[in-house]
Amino acid sequence: MPPTTDPQNSRHGTGHNVPTRYVGRFAPSPTGQLHFGSLVAAVASFADARSHNGVWLLRNDDVDQSRTVVGSAQDIMATLRAFGFSWDGPVHHQSQRQNHYADAIDKLRQRDLVYPCRCSRRQVEAAGRRGADGIIYPGTCLNWNGIGTERVSVRLRTSDQQIRINDQICGCVHQNLARECGDFVIQRADGFTAYQLAVVVDDFIDGITHVVRGADLLSSTPRQVFLQQQLNYPNPVYAHIPLARDHDGNKLSKYDDAHPVNPAQPLGALHMAWEFLGQPPLPNPCDNVDQFWMMAIPAWSIKRIEQFKSLPD
Ligand code: GLU
Repeated sequence: MPPTTDPQNSRHGTGHNVPTRYVGRFAPSPTGQLHFGSLVAAVASFADARSHNGVWLLRNDDVDQSRTVVGSAQDIMATLRAFGFSWDGPVHHQSQRQNHYADAIDKLRQRDLVYPCRCSRRQVEAAGRRGADGIIYPGTCLNWNGIGTERVSVRLRTSDQQIRINDQICGCVHQNLARECGDFVIQRADGFTAYQLAVVVDDFIDGITHVVRGADLLSSTPRQVFLQQQLNYPNPVYAHIPLARDHDGNKLSKYDDAHPVNPAQPLGALHMAWEFLGQPPLPNPCDNVDQFWMMAIPAWSIKRIEQFKSLPD
């Protein structure tokens, strides 16, 4: 069950703390080639940042090195360049930010907000019921003293309160983490930092004010906002764009490798992404990607994105 959304209520709202500057980002995981779904997310976040005269950063989300495909980060960057994307400053790599993640976990530990957990995935699945994004952790290790097991994960205590997000596309999203998600892992038993913590620390370090990304991450957002609250970080403005699905309704993903975009023919896919995002046809035909972006950026409006989409015919 996804978090509850109410698009009628405060659709296209501005978020709780309206920033005066704009820093956006695109953060692909290097697990394969760039597919159409990721291209759509890149187009939306790039166009939104540039149309606000904002900064646009590129981050290599390689925190989970067990999933990293060698050469994929370089491949994704080359593809982005071929599509005319240009990012500001150097690319940041999650794998180089372990100290920052450890500091954030220490900060949470000092406030007694975390506890060690020795449950295996199978044990959690057997003991918990299904929630917003996987099984709700039933609190098995809440009172465990942490002695005697080497490989433990670290969980963050959630609280019985509504987390509210004013998403620019999905409207008001709310979730009670304790009831719908449960205490969640911020450091995995294999030693890798969990995505939820890494992304919050990264967005804070990079000064991200606007997160424009795929709706598959909407159900993670309440956990990220909760972490921001616990770490005293500001909340970015969120916009979750509809997932690109094929005509059978299946989500396009890097894993099926069925729809990698072709860097040798960027224009067709750019136009398709543009149309998918509900944007109007560009005033003139374009011969290259620079012309595309020159016309696209001033024409962009995030308000035109509809919530549920499948690929244009
Ligand atoms: N690395 C994530 C992905 O490729 C995106 C993270 C984010 O945008 O917060 O799905």
